[in-house]
Amino acid sequence: MIPFEYRTPKSLKEAQKDLKEFGTDAKLIAGGTALVIMMKQRLVRPTCLISLRSVRGLNGITQKDGGLRIGGLVTHRELETSSLVRRRLPLLAETYRHVATIRVRTMATVGGGLAHADPNQDPPPTLIALGATVKAGSSNGSRVIPLDGFFTDYYETVLKPDEVITEVFVPRLPANSGAAFLKFLPRTADDYATVSAATVVTLDRARKIFTDVRIALGSVGTTPIRAREAEAVLRGQPVKAEALREAAEKAKQAVDPVSDFRGSASYKKEMAGVFVRRALEKALEGLSGRGKAKRSRPAPKRRKR
Ligand SMILES: Cc1cc2nc3c(=O)[nH]c(=O)nc-3n(C[C@H](O)[C@H](O)[C@H](O)COP(=O)(O)OP(=O)(O)OC[C@H]3O[C@@H](n4cnc5c(N)ncnc54)[C@H](O)[C@@H]3O)c2cc1C
Repeated sequence: MIPFEYRTPKSLKEAQKDLKEFGTDAKLIAGGTALVIMMKQRLVRPTCLISLRSVRGLNGITQKDGGLRIGGLVTHRELETSSLVRRRLPLLAETYRHVATIRVRTMATVGGGLAHADPNQDPPPTLIALGATVKAGSSNGSRVIPLDGFFTDYYETVLKPDEVITEVFVPRLPANSGAAFLKFLPRTADDYATVSAATVVTLDRARKIFTDVRIALGSVGTTPIRAREAEAVLRGQPVKAEALREAAEKAKQAVDPVSDFRGSASYKKEMAGVFVRRALEKALEGLSGRGKAKRSRPAPKRRKR
């Protein structure tokens, strides 16, 4: 590694001052699980590291407007084990549990993970499906960014170099909603996904139709992908297995995976459809089984004459 200066600001204001001083030569460091690897590989060469570990106000998970406010420095492990998260949004705890190993999850932070923007990461599809937003602050003030429009390319986001992710907000699930995240990892349990899919479904229970659906996928493009056309297939439609299959077909058209050691592009595309359908089924099961998709009855067998 090349030599670098190490700053340990105690407040956001101090961190922002350091960022201003070094400009694009500086890098924030939170858990360090992604950044240190990139520095060792000389993919990034900051002359100054600004540690967020001692910055006040970036920790804690609290209830806000019925949803959850998660500090940018909260670790994956804290989210996974938080009784508040498990009670209010169990899908979030479950998703973070899928990331790597306990060792990585103990260090890796929510803000660091999102800023890293590797399209193979697990949390983004779930956070997008849940309608989460990111709050980013700089010396010019702060702004709220829907996670849906946050990722722009491989390891790229809309964040400006002087912006710090201070919190993530995840709204409450609407009534009559079910949510699911599925990670397909055929190699080892701590691997990145070959394909991942997150779904949130909201039903009008009286009429048994989808009033809202959100579908997002990971590992099948240069960013996490929201499958809007697949969602549109279901909105306003009765809960039926054929509709889920049709949405899964549309989801396949939304993805653009690359071939690598986790599978060929065509295999991943196929699996994207399979895992979207399964994630929709699982989200419906989460609605106490009452919203399960009806299978159409098989046609009666004809008697041979
Ligand atoms: C062995 C291994 C296996 C992994 N497996 C998985 C997996 O299965 N699934 C998965 O989802 N992920 C996986 N990961 C990736 C892991 O999720 C990321 O490394 C982690 O989330 C990064 O968080 P961090 O706090 O360590 O970020 P850091 O390494 O500290 O920083 C990452 C980037 O974010 C920037 N940054 C940090 N904090 C902020 C902030 N608050 N605001 C703005 N920018 C910031 C840094 O400048 C840097 O560019 C794996 C990582 C490792 C090392």
